Amino acid sequence: MSDQWESTWKKAGVSYDRFIRTTDADHIKAVIEFTKRVQAAGDIYEGEYEGWYCVGCEEFKREDELVDGLCPMHQKKPEHIKEKNYFFKLSRYQQALLDHIQAHPEFIQPESRRNEVVAFIERGLHDLSVSRSTQKWGIPWPGDKNQVIYVWFDALLNYLTVAGFPQGGYENTWPADLQIVGKDITKFHCIYWPAMLMSAGLSLPKTVFGHGFFTIDGQKISKSLGNAVDPVELAGNYGIDALRYFLLSEFGFGSDGEFSHQRFESVYNADLANDLGNLVQRVQVMVGRYLDGSYGNLPPHSHDTSPYQEAMQNLRLDKALAEVWLLIRGLNQFLEEEKPWELAKHDKEHLSEVLYHAITDLNQIATLLMPFMPETAHKIAATFANDTVHPEVGLLFPKSDQPLERTIKIA
Ligand SMILES: [Zn+2]
Repeated sequence: MSDQWESTWKKAGVSYDRFIRTTDADHIKAVIEFTKRVQAAGDIYEGEYEGWYCVGCEEFKREDELVDGLCPMHQKKPEHIKEKNYFFKLSRYQQALLDHIQAHPEFIQPESRRNEVVAFIERGLHDLSVSRSTQKWGIPWPGDKNQVIYVWFDALLNYLTVAGFPQGGYENTWPADLQIVGKDITKFHCIYWPAMLMSAGLSLPKTVFGHGFFTIDGQKISKSLGNAVDPVELAGNYGIDALRYFLLSEFGFGSDGEFSHQRFESVYNADLANDLGNLVQRVQVMVGRYLDGSYGNLPPHSHDTSPYQEAMQNLRLDKALAEVWLLIRGLNQFLEEEKPWELAKHDKEHLSEVLYHAITDLNQIATLLMPFMPETAHKIAATFANDTVHPEVGLLFPKSDQPLERTIKIA
């Protein structure tokens, strides 16, 4: 699976500092050290677990979490398990968790996720089985060869491993300012994880943000429901940046969103091919034609980016993109009003000013687009680099005659 993840991130233009696997040697060390600290805090005891376990979720399920006896996420009957395990005294942290969430409302974002988590805690926390005796894979329990550490207890600790825990200096990176997780795993990140950290005497992440899910053409996407979609394939002949733009601009990050092929096509044509692609090409052509393709020092000119920055701080990625599109549409309008093609006939000096302004704006636009559409941002920057326009970079977002490939695959 890890090969598939890595190649998907690559194709999706997603970069990272570290791709961690829980089989990595430094991670195993971190998990064993952390488990020992939780043991030393008196939060581990031996007991017997009897109940349900969903392998899809890798999660022990309470009766009240099942719907008609099935895991609601996987639509499968969980395995009934009866085995000797080590337990973590999660119940001991119930009040501390509620107090922390109340004192730090920013800890769980968005608010809807916070309400779900608080309701779950208020129903009462049970101690958590944190080892398995019948499972072959996993990190051996310190001092007990017959048990492996429960996969979630282990996996959550990757955040400490990447910071360098338990080596000195990890405190420079930990606690995380922000952890972004899917809404289906907020319980692990907003209940188990902070309780584990409290037990080990470590700081909690400042914010955990649980993002939403997409539906596609009205269907919920789920591997086990058999309508899984490869998001990279979805980009089809429109390119990955177009898909990234669409997914990030259409919905408030955190809410669920509906992906519609029809809507994707219309957004592609309006925002990308028309507003942005044409703009870059127009400026490129005019700089080539009226300035012989080269220009000297650009005047310092920069639009106020504070609304963009504020949106980014609040993870309102859709709002940040809307700010960039205000600049794009503003520049289009500016060119319509200034009419460089007419200035070329009688006012060369003002013509240069207008085109310099356009290039400066496009460079700023490229910078702001970098986290959203890295390939496009690099192309725009490369088009106007080293005082020269480089037309060979080519047209951005060409109109496509082919309809978007509908790649919903029935697995
Ligand atoms: Zn499940």
